[in-house]
Amino acid sequence: MPVVVNPATEETIVELDDAGVAEADAAVARAKAAFSAWRAVAPSDRARLIRRLATLVEEHADELARIESENVGKPIGGARAEVAMVAEVFHFYAGAVDKHHGQTIPVAGGVDLTFREPLGVVGLIVPWNFPLNISSWKLGPALACGNTVVLKPAELTPLSALRLAELVLDAGIPEGVVNVVVGPGRVVGQRLVEHPDVAKIGFTGSTEVGRGVMQGAAGTIKRVTLELGGKSANVVFADADLERAAASAPYAVFDNAGQDCCARSRILVERPAYDRFVELLVDATSKVKVGDPRNEQTEMGPLISAQHRETVASFVDGEPIFRGEAPNGRGYWFPCTLVEASNQDRVAREEVFGPVAAVIQFTGEEEAVRIANDTPYGLSGSIWTENGARALRVARALETGVLSINSNSSVRPSTPFGGAKQSGFGRELGMQALDGYSDVKNVFIAT
Ligand code: NDP
Repeated sequence: MPVVVNPATEETIVELDDAGVAEADAAVARAKAAFSAWRAVAPSDRARLIRRLATLVEEHADELARIESENVGKPIGGARAEVAMVAEVFHFYAGAVDKHHGQTIPVAGGVDLTFREPLGVVGLIVPWNFPLNISSWKLGPALACGNTVVLKPAELTPLSALRLAELVLDAGIPEGVVNVVVGPGRVVGQRLVEHPDVAKIGFTGSTEVGRGVMQGAAGTIKRVTLELGGKSANVVFADADLERAAASAPYAVFDNAGQDCCARSRILVERPAYDRFVELLVDATSKVKVGDPRNEQTEMGPLISAQHRETVASFVDGEPIFRGEAPNGRGYWFPCTLVEASNQDRVAREEVFGPVAAVIQFTGEEEAVRIANDTPYGLSGSIWTENGARALRVARALETGVLSINSNSSVRPSTPFGGAKQSGFGRELGMQALDGYSDVKNVFIAT
């Protein structure tokens, strides 16, 4: 039985019944039964229903933010911003329903039409770090394309997805179109991956589990979109606006207590600027407000679990450059930590998924690119420089799916998001996500 805990207090919020293979199968059957009617809903009506869901999310923003904050330990201000993005994502995909369509292609002897067809039942597997947000990134395009859905949130953080499922019904989206199943990944998730009636898996989580999803999906030649781990570089050249770069760097790695696949957890600094930048970075990091997630001023909450805190702690040996303050007592707290590292150290190679940043020195553009690319991952990253030509050169050379120049923000509803290398493949958000939830059918008409 999953016990859902508030990571800031270690108190039980609720105990839920655990679903297993039978419940997963029943959810797939419901989604399958709902598919033919849902795909036949007129695009303008489907858009209206998704837009109504977006409005309901806005109307329930405070409630959803509170649920997410309690369940994940997120600061309430950040949780509210995430809920606002969820509404924006549904608005975007409501608008996209009738703008993602086929083509007419001139060919010899006739005309060729393409249709965008929904896939059928799609399985959406979501992690615990951004439960509501990542659910919306998958649900929005899946519904817009006319698919029906079985959504499996992480057992640690199922509450916002369950509430969202109620809002889906309140919006008038028919029963069976969206089904949420709460159960262990290795049982319910695995079943969705192998189920013959599931056409696609949209997965976000660890690279290790992602590898298993890909293998499991091979049995039924299922489509997969994989959004996996990251070890992204925040590359600071000596000619950058150091004050601005240093002020932004803590957000890039300590937001969501570092439990963020986009975290720029390797901070690469060009040698001539190193001492000055580290001084500014320590100052900025020391100002991060860590504590009670219910407090409007709080910027960083606890980690998700005691077990995860142990993993994060194992990355810090020796004396860090900086270790911040964190509450004592109950809650899975861990302080903001900066460590000096080489790119070969474990802290620079593995995804910590906690508030620990590795600060690494480099000399010149070539070495910056070499170090930044020397990782199996390729999800996000940043480049800080006042030299526009260099910014574009380095942006082209970095092996990553998402990049920011003179900024650390990566995610917007209207722009594609996803990884290179072992950070996965397929794109979420933007119009590109619709390609991952539809197939192209080609019809030739002889004239
Ligand atoms: P997992 O990859 O284990 O979990 C992600 C989702 O997959 C959860 O819903 C989980 O369910 C489910 N799942 C687990 N096992 C299977 C399986 N065999 N088949 C199908 N689905 C499965 O990530 P964790 O939550 O354990 O986090 C571990 C590490 O992964 C983190 O420390 C971080 O490094 C990375 N990670 C990266 C994320 C990203 O955004 N890219 C997000 C989360 C984690 P359940 O948890 O209910 O068992």
